[in-house]
Amino acid sequence: MGKVLVIGAGGVSTVAVKKMAMNPDVFTDILLATRTQSKADKIAADITNVNIRTARVDADKPDELVALFGEFKPDLVVNLALPYQDLSVMDACLAYGVSYLDTANYEPLDEAKYQYSWQWAYNDRFGKAGLTAILGCGFDPGVTGVYTAYAARHHFDEIHSLDIVDCNAGDHHKAFATNFNPEINIREITQRGKYYENGEWKETDPLAVHRALTYPEVGPKESYLMYHEELESLVKNFPTLRRARFWMTFGQEYLTHLRVIQNIGMSRIDPILYKGIEIVPIQFLKAVLPDPGELGENYTGQTSIGCRIRGLKDGKEQTYYVYNNCSHEAAYKETGAQAVSYTTGVPAMIGAKLFMQGLWKKPGVWNVEEFDPDPFMKELNEQGLPWHERFNIDLEL
Ligand code: NDP
Repeated sequence: MGKVLVIGAGGVSTVAVKKMAMNPDVFTDILLATRTQSKADKIAADITNVNIRTARVDADKPDELVALFGEFKPDLVVNLALPYQDLSVMDACLAYGVSYLDTANYEPLDEAKYQYSWQWAYNDRFGKAGLTAILGCGFDPGVTGVYTAYAARHHFDEIHSLDIVDCNAGDHHKAFATNFNPEINIREITQRGKYYENGEWKETDPLAVHRALTYPEVGPKESYLMYHEELESLVKNFPTLRRARFWMTFGQEYLTHLRVIQNIGMSRIDPILYKGIEIVPIQFLKAVLPDPGELGENYTGQTSIGCRIRGLKDGKEQTYYVYNNCSHEAAYKETGAQAVSYTTGVPAMIGAKLFMQGLWKKPGVWNVEEFDPDPFMKELNEQGLPWHERFNIDLEL
Protein backbone atom coordinates (compact mmCIF):
# COMPACT_ATOMS: atom_id res chain seq x y z
CA MET A 1 0.00 0.00 0.00
CA GLY A 2 2.77 2.48 0.74
CA LYS A 3 6.22 3.62 1.75
CA VAL A 4 7.18 4.58 5.27
CA LEU A 5 10.37 6.28 6.41
CA VAL A 6 11.24 5.57 10.05
CA ILE A 7 13.76 7.75 11.88
CA GLY A 8 15.69 6.32 14.86
CA ALA A 9 16.82 2.76 15.55
CA GLY A 10 16.38 2.31 19.31
CA GLY A 11 14.08 0.00 21.28
CA VAL A 12 10.83 1.59 20.10
CA SER A 13 11.91 1.58 16.47
CA THR A 14 12.95 -2.09 16.71
CA VAL A 15 9.39 -3.04 17.67
CA ALA A 16 7.61 -0.64 15.30
CA VAL A 17 9.63 -1.75 12.26
CA LYS A 18 9.26 -5.46 13.04
CA LYS A 19 5.52 -4.97 13.50
CA MET A 20 5.30 -3.04 10.20
CA ALA A 21 6.87 -6.02 8.51
CA MET A 22 4.09 -8.18 10.04
CA ASN A 23 1.61 -5.98 8.13
CA PRO A 24 3.19 -6.27 4.68
CA ASP A 25 -0.02 -5.44 2.81
CA VAL A 26 0.15 -1.92 4.30
CA PHE A 27 3.90 -1.27 4.60
CA THR A 28 5.42 -2.40 1.32
CA ASP A 29 8.66 -0.40 1.53
CA ILE A 30 10.51 0.76 4.63
CA LEU A 31 13.50 3.08 4.84
CA LEU A 32 15.03 3.01 8.32
CA ALA A 33 17.26 6.05 8.80
CA THR A 34 19.20 6.95 11.91
CA ARG A 35 22.37 8.50 13.27
CA THR A 36 24.28 5.22 13.71
CA GLN A 37 23.48 3.19 10.60
CA SER A 38 24.82 -0.09 12.03
CA LYS A 39 21.90 -0.09 14.53
CA ALA A 40 19.40 0.22 11.67
CA ASP A 41 21.23 -2.56 9.78
CA LYS A 42 20.83 -4.84 12.82
CA ILE A 43 17.03 -4.32 12.83
CA ALA A 44 16.76 -4.66 9.05
CA ALA A 45 18.73 -7.94 9.09
CA ASP A 46 15.76 -9.69 10.75
CA ILE A 47 13.29 -8.56 8.08
CA THR A 48 12.95 -10.52 4.89
CA ASN A 49 9.30 -10.24 3.79
CA VAL A 50 9.13 -6.53 2.83
CA ASN A 51 11.55 -4.21 1.04
CA ILE A 52 13.68 -2.55 3.70
CA ARG A 53 16.82 -0.49 3.43
CA THR A 54 18.75 1.68 5.83
CA ALA A 55 20.43 5.08 5.70
CA ARG A 56 22.42 7.40 7.92
CA VAL A 57 20.84 10.74 8.74
CA ASP A 58 21.23 13.48 11.31
CA ALA A 59 17.62 14.34 12.17
CA ASP A 60 18.71 17.65 13.69
CA LYS A 61 19.43 18.79 10.12
CA PRO A 62 16.25 19.38 8.05
CA ASP A 63 18.32 19.67 4.84
CA GLU A 64 19.68 16.14 5.24
CA LEU A 65 16.16 14.88 5.92
CA VAL A 66 14.64 16.66 2.90
CA ALA A 67 17.30 15.15 0.64
CA LEU A 68 16.52 11.68 2.00
CA PHE A 69 12.76 12.21 1.60
CA GLY A 70 13.32 13.34 -2.00
CA GLU A 71 15.24 10.17 -2.76
CA PHE A 72 12.80 7.70 -1.07
CA LYS A 73 9.48 9.53 -1.61
CA PRO A 74 7.73 8.28 1.56
CA ASP A 75 3.97 8.45 2.17
CA LEU A 76 4.60 8.93 5.89
CA VAL A 77 7.54 9.80 8.15
CA VAL A 78 7.50 8.05 11.55
CA ASN A 79 9.79 9.88 13.98
CA LEU A 80 11.13 7.45 16.60
CA ALA A 81 14.31 9.38 17.37
CA LEU A 82 14.31 11.62 20.46
CA PRO A 83 11.89 14.44 21.36
CA TYR A 84 14.65 16.98 20.59
CA GLN A 85 14.31 16.17 16.88
CA ASP A 86 10.52 16.67 16.59
CA LEU A 87 10.60 20.20 15.21
CA SER A 88 13.42 19.66 12.73
CA VAL A 89 11.62 16.55 11.40
CA MET A 90 8.32 18.47 11.17
CA ASP A 91 10.12 21.30 9.33
CA ALA A 92 11.55 18.79 6.87
CA CYS A 93 8.11 17.18 6.37
CA LEU A 94 6.64 20.57 5.49
CA ALA A 95 9.54 21.46 3.20
CA TYR A 96 9.21 18.18 1.27
CA GLY A 97 5.44 17.68 1.62
CA VAL A 98 4.92 14.48 3.62
CA SER A 99 2.82 13.57 6.66
CA TYR A 100 4.30 12.95 10.13
CA LEU A 101 3.85 10.79 13.26
CA ASP A 102 5.74 10.72 16.56
CA THR A 103 5.52 9.23 20.08
CA ALA A 104 6.76 12.03 22.34
CA ASN A 105 6.31 15.79 22.40
CA TYR A 106 9.09 18.22 21.54
CA GLU A 107 11.53 19.13 24.28
CA PRO A 108 14.26 21.74 24.01
CA LEU A 109 17.66 20.20 24.77
CA ASP A 110 18.57 22.77 27.41
CA GLU A 111 15.29 22.76 29.36
CA ALA A 112 13.11 19.85 30.54
CA LYS A 113 9.84 21.47 29.51
CA TYR A 114 6.88 19.44 28.35
CA GLN A 115 4.31 21.30 26.34
CA TYR A 116 2.59 20.86 23.02
CA SER A 117 2.62 24.56 22.12
CA TRP A 118 5.68 24.25 19.88
CA GLN A 119 4.13 21.44 17.82
CA TRP A 120 0.57 22.78 17.88
CA ALA A 121 2.01 25.96 16.32
CA TYR A 122 2.55 23.91 13.12
CA ASN A 123 -1.20 23.26 12.75
CA ASP A 124 -1.90 25.94 10.13
CA ARG A 125 1.10 25.00 8.02
CA PHE A 126 0.27 21.29 8.00
CA GLY A 127 -3.39 22.14 7.39
CA LYS A 128 -2.67 24.43 4.43
CA ALA A 129 -0.29 21.86 2.93
CA GLY A 130 -2.96 19.16 3.23
CA LEU A 131 -0.63 17.10 5.46
CA THR A 132 -1.40 15.16 8.63
CA ALA A 133 0.73 15.26 11.79
CA ILE A 134 -0.16 12.67 14.46
CA LEU A 135 1.38 13.55 17.83
CA GLY A 136 2.16 11.22 20.72
CA CYS A 137 1.24 7.84 19.24
CA GLY A 138 2.95 5.50 21.73
CA PHE A 139 1.28 4.08 24.85
CA ASP A 140 1.38 7.06 27.17
CA PRO A 141 0.95 9.37 25.35
CA GLY A 142 -0.91 7.38 22.75
CA VAL A 143 -3.08 4.46 23.79
CA THR A 144 -4.11 6.34 26.96
CA GLY A 145 -5.60 9.09 24.76
CA VAL A 146 -7.35 6.52 22.56
CA TYR A 147 -8.72 4.74 25.67
CA THR A 148 -10.09 8.08 26.92
CA ALA A 149 -11.70 8.89 23.57
CA TYR A 150 -13.20 5.39 23.41
CA ALA A 151 -14.58 5.67 26.95
CA ALA A 152 -16.06 9.11 26.25
CA ARG A 153 -17.72 7.85 23.07
CA HIS A 154 -19.07 4.48 24.23
CA HIS A 155 -19.43 4.48 28.00
CA PHE A 156 -20.12 8.00 29.26
CA ASP A 157 -22.26 11.02 28.49
CA GLU A 158 -19.70 13.16 30.35
CA ILE A 159 -16.31 12.24 31.80
CA HIS A 160 -15.36 14.01 35.03
CA SER A 161 -12.13 12.50 36.29
CA LEU A 162 -9.28 10.68 34.61
CA ASP A 163 -6.38 8.91 36.30
CA ILE A 164 -3.81 7.36 34.01
CA VAL A 165 -2.05 4.56 35.91
CA ASP A 166 1.25 3.20 34.62
CA CYS A 167 2.81 0.21 36.36
CA ASN A 168 5.97 -1.61 35.40
CA ALA A 169 6.04 -4.71 37.56
CA GLY A 170 8.95 -6.17 35.63
CA ASP A 171 12.44 -7.06 36.83
CA HIS A 172 15.44 -6.58 34.52
CA HIS A 173 17.84 -7.88 37.17
CA LYS A 174 20.07 -4.80 37.02
CA ALA A 175 20.75 -2.57 40.04
CA PHE A 176 19.62 0.49 38.06
CA ALA A 177 18.47 0.93 34.49
CA THR A 178 15.83 2.99 32.72
CA ASN A 179 13.31 1.35 30.41
CA PHE A 180 13.68 3.85 27.63
CA ASN A 181 16.24 6.50 26.77
CA PRO A 182 17.83 7.31 30.18
CA GLU A 183 18.27 11.00 29.45
CA ILE A 184 14.62 11.51 28.47
CA ASN A 185 13.40 9.26 31.29
CA ILE A 186 15.38 10.93 34.10
CA ARG A 187 14.53 14.44 32.88
CA GLU A 188 10.84 13.49 32.98
CA ILE A 189 10.83 11.89 36.42
CA THR A 190 12.84 14.53 38.25
CA GLN A 191 10.62 17.44 37.20
CA ARG A 192 7.95 18.86 39.52
CA GLY A 193 4.63 17.00 39.68
CA LYS A 194 1.58 18.64 38.11
CA TYR A 195 -2.09 17.74 37.73
CA TYR A 196 -5.29 19.40 36.59
CA GLU A 197 -8.17 20.19 38.93
CA ASN A 198 -11.18 22.48 38.51
CA GLY A 199 -9.74 24.44 35.61
CA GLU A 200 -6.28 24.93 37.14
CA TRP A 201 -2.89 23.23 37.03
CA LYS A 202 -1.62 22.36 40.51
CA GLU A 203 2.03 21.63 41.25
CA THR A 204 3.69 19.25 43.72
CA ASP A 205 7.31 18.58 44.66
CA PRO A 206 8.83 15.82 42.49
CA LEU A 207 7.28 12.41 43.37
CA ALA A 208 5.97 13.88 46.65
CA VAL A 209 2.40 12.52 46.31
CA HIS A 210 2.10 8.73 46.27
CA ARG A 211 -0.16 5.88 47.28
CA ALA A 212 -0.54 2.15 46.73
CA LEU A 213 -2.75 1.26 43.76
CA THR A 214 -3.83 -2.25 42.83
CA TYR A 215 -2.96 -3.36 39.30
CA PRO A 216 -4.66 -6.37 37.63
CA GLU A 217 -2.61 -9.61 37.89
CA VAL A 218 0.10 -7.58 39.69
CA GLY A 219 -1.36 -6.45 43.01
CA PRO A 220 -0.65 -3.29 44.99
CA LYS A 221 2.27 -1.09 43.93
CA GLU A 222 3.32 2.28 45.26
CA SER A 223 2.34 4.80 42.58
CA TYR A 224 3.68 8.35 42.28
CA LEU A 225 1.84 11.37 40.93
CA MET A 226 3.84 13.04 38.17
CA TYR A 227 3.21 15.28 35.18
CA HIS A 228 2.81 13.57 31.85
CA GLU A 229 2.41 15.32 28.53
CA GLU A 230 -0.92 13.80 27.46
CA LEU A 231 -2.69 15.54 30.34
CA GLU A 232 -2.30 18.84 28.46
CA SER A 233 -4.10 17.70 25.32
CA LEU A 234 -6.68 15.53 27.11
CA VAL A 235 -8.03 18.34 29.32
CA LYS A 236 -8.27 20.52 26.21
CA ASN A 237 -10.02 17.87 24.11
CA PHE A 238 -12.34 16.68 26.92
CA PRO A 239 -13.44 19.93 28.55
CA THR A 240 -15.87 18.16 30.91
CA LEU A 241 -12.85 16.81 32.84
CA ARG A 242 -12.70 18.30 36.32
CA ARG A 243 -9.56 16.43 37.32
CA ALA A 244 -6.81 14.68 35.36
CA ARG A 245 -3.76 13.02 36.89
CA PHE A 246 -0.99 10.61 35.97
CA TRP A 247 0.53 7.96 38.26
CA MET A 248 3.60 5.79 37.74
CA THR A 249 5.04 3.01 39.89
CA PHE A 250 8.66 3.05 41.05
CA GLY A 251 10.50 0.58 43.28
CA GLN A 252 12.43 1.78 46.34
CA GLU A 253 15.75 0.70 44.82
CA TYR A 254 15.07 2.79 41.71
CA LEU A 255 14.14 5.85 43.79
CA THR A 256 17.26 5.53 45.96
CA HIS A 257 19.50 5.45 42.89
CA LEU A 258 17.60 8.39 41.41
CA ARG A 259 18.09 10.42 44.61
CA VAL A 260 21.83 9.74 44.62
CA ILE A 261 22.11 10.60 40.91
CA GLN A 262 20.40 13.93 41.60
CA ASN A 263 22.34 14.67 44.80
CA ILE A 264 25.70 14.20 43.12
CA GLY A 265 24.75 16.35 40.13
CA MET A 266 24.65 13.58 37.53
CA SER A 267 21.14 14.49 36.39
CA ARG A 268 22.21 18.03 35.40
CA ILE A 269 21.29 18.99 31.84
CA ASP A 270 23.56 22.05 31.61
CA PRO A 271 27.10 21.65 30.21
CA ILE A 272 30.07 21.53 32.60
CA LEU A 273 33.77 21.71 31.80
CA TYR A 274 35.67 18.45 32.25
CA LYS A 275 39.39 18.52 31.37
CA GLY A 276 38.70 21.46 29.06
CA ILE A 277 35.82 19.70 27.27
CA GLU A 278 32.16 20.61 27.72
CA ILE A 279 30.07 17.62 28.80
CA VAL A 280 26.44 17.37 29.94
CA PRO A 281 26.34 15.15 33.07
CA ILE A 282 23.06 13.41 32.18
CA GLN A 283 24.40 12.57 28.70
CA PHE A 284 27.56 11.12 30.25
CA LEU A 285 25.38 9.12 32.66
CA LYS A 286 23.42 7.73 29.70
CA ALA A 287 26.66 6.47 28.20
CA VAL A 288 27.49 4.37 31.31
CA LEU A 289 23.99 3.07 32.14
CA PRO A 290 22.65 -0.16 30.60
CA ASP A 291 21.24 0.33 27.10
CA PRO A 292 17.42 0.02 27.43
CA GLY A 293 17.43 -1.85 24.13
CA GLU A 294 19.55 -4.58 25.68
CA LEU A 295 17.39 -5.14 28.79
CA GLY A 296 14.96 -7.52 27.15
CA GLU A 297 16.84 -10.78 27.41
CA ASN A 298 16.48 -11.26 31.17
CA TYR A 299 13.39 -9.15 31.76
CA THR A 300 10.61 -10.93 33.64
CA GLY A 301 7.16 -9.73 34.80
CA GLN A 302 4.75 -7.39 33.06
CA THR A 303 3.59 -3.84 32.55
CA SER A 304 0.02 -2.76 33.32
CA ILE A 305 -1.10 0.61 31.95
CA GLY A 306 -4.61 1.98 31.84
CA CYS A 307 -7.13 4.73 32.44
CA ARG A 308 -9.43 4.95 35.44
CA ILE A 309 -12.36 7.19 34.60
CA ARG A 310 -15.33 8.51 36.52
CA GLY A 311 -18.30 10.27 34.93
CA LEU A 312 -22.00 10.28 34.12
CA LYS A 313 -23.99 7.79 32.08
CA ASP A 314 -27.77 8.21 31.81
CA GLY A 315 -27.71 10.58 34.77
CA LYS A 316 -25.88 8.12 37.05
CA GLU A 317 -22.27 8.16 38.22
CA GLN A 318 -20.24 5.35 36.67
CA THR A 319 -16.64 4.19 37.04
CA TYR A 320 -14.60 2.52 34.32
CA TYR A 321 -11.11 1.02 34.09
CA VAL A 322 -9.58 0.08 30.74
CA TYR A 323 -6.05 -1.38 30.65
CA ASN A 324 -3.51 -3.59 28.97
CA ASN A 325 -1.03 -5.93 30.62
CA CYS A 326 2.07 -6.73 28.59
CA SER A 327 4.62 -9.43 29.42
CA HIS A 328 8.28 -8.49 29.04
CA GLU A 329 9.19 -12.07 28.15
CA ALA A 330 6.49 -12.39 25.47
CA ALA A 331 7.48 -9.01 23.98
CA TYR A 332 11.11 -10.09 23.85
CA LYS A 333 10.28 -13.43 22.30
CA GLU A 334 8.30 -11.76 19.54
CA THR A 335 10.47 -8.72 18.76
CA GLY A 336 13.73 -8.90 20.73
CA ALA A 337 12.69 -5.88 22.83
CA GLN A 338 11.16 -5.52 26.32
CA ALA A 339 7.57 -4.50 27.08
CA VAL A 340 8.19 -0.75 27.45
CA SER A 341 9.56 -0.58 23.90
CA TYR A 342 6.83 -3.00 22.76
CA THR A 343 3.94 -1.00 24.26
CA THR A 344 5.28 2.10 22.47
CA GLY A 345 6.33 0.58 19.14
CA VAL A 346 3.08 -1.32 18.49
CA PRO A 347 0.82 1.78 18.81
CA ALA A 348 3.24 3.78 16.60
CA MET A 349 2.84 1.10 13.94
CA ILE A 350 -0.96 1.08 14.37
CA GLY A 351 -1.18 4.88 13.99
CA ALA A 352 0.96 4.63 10.85
CA LYS A 353 -1.23 1.81 9.52
CA LEU A 354 -4.46 3.78 10.07
CA PHE A 355 -2.88 6.77 8.32
CA MET A 356 -1.90 4.60 5.35
CA GLN A 357 -5.45 3.21 5.19
CA GLY A 358 -6.85 6.75 5.17
CA LEU A 359 -8.66 6.24 8.51
CA TRP A 360 -6.42 8.59 10.52
CA LYS A 361 -5.75 11.20 7.88
CA LYS A 362 -6.82 14.85 8.08
CA PRO A 363 -4.91 18.04 7.35
CA GLY A 364 -3.45 19.65 10.47
CA VAL A 365 -1.63 18.71 13.69
CA TRP A 366 -3.58 16.35 15.94
CA ASN A 367 -3.27 14.46 19.20
CA VAL A 368 -4.41 10.85 18.99
CA GLU A 369 -7.65 11.36 20.91
CA GLU A 370 -8.85 13.63 18.08
CA PHE A 371 -9.11 10.65 15.70
CA ASP A 372 -11.69 7.83 15.61
CA PRO A 373 -10.68 5.51 18.49
CA ASP A 374 -12.62 2.46 17.23
CA PRO A 375 -10.30 1.18 14.48
CA PHE A 376 -7.31 1.75 16.77
CA MET A 377 -8.92 -0.25 19.60
CA LYS A 378 -9.61 -3.08 17.15
CA GLU A 379 -5.99 -3.09 15.99
CA LEU A 380 -4.70 -3.12 19.58
CA ASN A 381 -6.45 -6.46 20.09
CA GLU A 382 -5.06 -7.85 16.86
CA GLN A 383 -1.49 -6.57 17.04
CA GLY A 384 -0.46 -7.78 20.50
CA LEU A 385 -1.83 -5.26 23.01
CA PRO A 386 -5.27 -6.62 24.00
CA TRP A 387 -7.28 -4.46 26.38
CA HIS A 388 -9.72 -5.27 29.16
CA GLU A 389 -12.55 -3.31 30.74
CA ARG A 390 -13.97 -3.19 34.25
CA PHE A 391 -17.14 -1.32 35.12
CA ASN A 392 -18.34 0.19 38.36
CA ILE A 393 -15.40 -0.93 40.46
CA ASP A 394 -13.61 0.94 43.24
CA LEU A 395 -11.10 3.10 41.35
CA GLU A 396 -9.06 3.71 44.55
CA LEU A 397 -8.72 7.32 43.42
P1 NDP B 1 16.50 5.19 22.06
O1 NDP B 1 17.43 6.13 22.71
O2 NDP B 1 16.63 3.71 22.30
O3 NDP B 1 16.56 5.39 20.47
C1 NDP B 1 16.58 6.65 19.88
C2 NDP B 1 17.14 6.50 18.48
O4 NDP B 1 17.13 7.78 17.86
C3 NDP B 1 18.58 6.00 18.46
O5 NDP B 1 18.73 5.07 17.42
C4 NDP B 1 19.36 7.28 18.17
O6 NDP B 1 20.57 7.12 17.48
C5 NDP B 1 18.40 8.00 17.26
N1 NDP B 1 18.73 9.43 17.24
C6 NDP B 1 18.95 10.26 18.28
N2 NDP B 1 19.28 11.47 17.85
C7 NDP B 1 19.26 11.41 16.49
C8 NDP B 1 19.52 12.34 15.46
N3 NDP B 1 19.87 13.60 15.72
N4 NDP B 1 19.43 11.92 14.18
C9 NDP B 1 19.08 10.64 13.88
N5 NDP B 1 18.82 9.72 14.81
C10 NDP B 1 18.91 10.09 16.10
O7 NDP B 1 15.02 5.65 22.41
P2 NDP B 1 13.68 4.78 22.49
O8 NDP B 1 13.61 3.88 21.31
O9 NDP B 1 13.56 4.22 23.84
O10 NDP B 1 12.58 5.94 22.36
C11 NDP B 1 12.24 6.50 21.09
C12 NDP B 1 11.21 7.61 21.28
O11 NDP B 1 10.03 7.06 21.88
C13 NDP B 1 11.66 8.74 22.23
O12 NDP B 1 11.22 9.96 21.69
C14 NDP B 1 10.93 8.44 23.52
O13 NDP B 1 10.73 9.60 24.28
C15 NDP B 1 9.64 7.89 22.97
N6 NDP B 1 8.89 7.06 23.94
C16 NDP B 1 7.53 7.22 24.02
C17 NDP B 1 6.77 6.46 24.88
C18 NDP B 1 5.29 6.56 24.87
O14 NDP B 1 4.61 5.72 25.48
N7 NDP B 1 4.68 7.52 24.20
C19 NDP B 1 7.40 5.49 25.80
C20 NDP B 1 8.82 5.30 25.57
C21 NDP B 1 9.52 6.09 24.69
P3 NDP B 1 21.91 6.55 18.18
O15 NDP B 1 21.69 5.07 18.16
O16 NDP B 1 23.01 6.99 17.32
O17 NDP B 1 21.95 7.12 19.57
